Amino acid sequence: MSFVKSLIPQKLHADRKIFRSVYAIVIVDLIILFVSLSFIPIFLFIDFMEGAYIMFYSSLAALGYFVILKSSKNLTTCGHYFAFQSIVICLSMMYFTGGISSPFIFWLFCICPVSFLYFKEKTALLWTGIIIISFLTLAIAQIFGYPFVQHLTPKILNITWVVNFLFGVFIFVSTFRSFQIGLNKVNQKLKGTNSDLKNSNHELERFAYIASHDLKSPLRSVISFITLFNKRYKSQIDEKGQEFLDIIATNADQMQHLIEDILEYSKSKDRVIKKEKVDLNKVLKQIISHIDSKDFYLDGKIQVSPLPIVKSDFTIFKQLFQNLIDNGLKYNHSHHKLVSVRYLEQKTELYFRIKDNGIGMEEAYFEKIFEMFQRLHNKSQYQGTGIGLAVCKKIVQQLGGKIWVTSKLNEGSIFHLTFPKSILWSKKNKKDIKDKSLLGIEF
Ligand code: ADP
Repeated sequence: MSFVKSLIPQKLHADRKIFRSVYAIVIVDLIILFVSLSFIPIFLFIDFMEGAYIMFYSSLAALGYFVILKSSKNLTTCGHYFAFQSIVICLSMMYFTGGISSPFIFWLFCICPVSFLYFKEKTALLWTGIIIISFLTLAIAQIFGYPFVQHLTPKILNITWVVNFLFGVFIFVSTFRSFQIGLNKVNQKLKGTNSDLKNSNHELERFAYIASHDLKSPLRSVISFITLFNKRYKSQIDEKGQEFLDIIATNADQMQHLIEDILEYSKSKDRVIKKEKVDLNKVLKQIISHIDSKDFYLDGKIQVSPLPIVKSDFTIFKQLFQNLIDNGLKYNHSHHKLVSVRYLEQKTELYFRIKDNGIGMEEAYFEKIFEMFQRLHNKSQYQGTGIGLAVCKKIVQQLGGKIWVTSKLNEGSIFHLTFPKSILWSKKNKKDIKDKSLLGIEF
């Protein structure tokens, strides 16, 4: 083995992948050298002079390969040399040993897998193409009657079949092994990268949690002092001063929302989801009674179809529907805002649809809006932090479901949610929900 290693230039030892390929090729070349040298006396013995000359040339070419490898130290150059010489030698041998029925056909097709060790896919495919064209040329010539004479005696022909067959099997197995080892290495690398990513993701979420948690209390005191300052010194500050103070208060308020939302998002990952009996009709009732009190959404209507009872977590379902309904009312300029929540029990899953008659959005944003901090409008148009839908997505994924949106600009949006049927509280659900229609609630 150390002899094979010594034939490989030091420069090619550094990269494990390249080294493995060169190592496999050097072994193949040594075998070619050995087989070619062995065939010379055999062919001389049966008076097959052309064969002996070709095998002599083949031995020189195999030796020449090592010279090229040492001097160029370049795998691609060696590859082109190897492929060219091998095709010439194989075709000449096939010419003298029966055309396409020659045992040297194994050698010819062995060049294909070996070329994948040398080259990038495109170049390897190019050489494979050349081999196939050469083979087809011989085949067509033979089919159209070109007389390829068989110079080997029956006994030697059999030996050549066996030797070439074994050679072919060896090349296929060793290149396949080489690919497999490479693939395993890639898989291991991917696994490592995946776990690194998970760790750094976890660290980032921890960082977001700690940073926002620690920012919360100083910000709370900033807000309290602004309020206090406003109360005590309102009469002593002029109009401009009051304007500045209002700006500070608004920004502090926005910051508080942002911090709360980031905290909510980072907490949501480690949250343990309860498995309690949750009547989603009650969840919606609570949400609606909360919205009722907000004059911001005046002149609106929420329609809810009968909803099921699920085995899940009241708080997270409330958070999920609250975010979606709030958005349906917030991103909405209609004279009469309408958000409808519909439920359908499908064959394998539970389907919810939250539809609004709001501003809608273009298709380009259908995926983006579920990413953290992705907002389609600035704060002066609509208040918000761009975290609500990211939290919704996380919740839905934790429950084993999916969430997506369909929408048309200025025509409203529809948020679709599906959950596995396993979260249903009982199979009698349809009966349970019969009397609990909340249809058409206005506020
Ligand atoms: P926020 O509302 O705090 O900005 P969200 O994550 O809830 O954050 O929403 C992200 C963005 O998606 C919003 O800024 C808005 O541009 C868009 N969006 C969300 N819901 C709707 C909706 N129902 N109609 C139109 N646009 C919406």
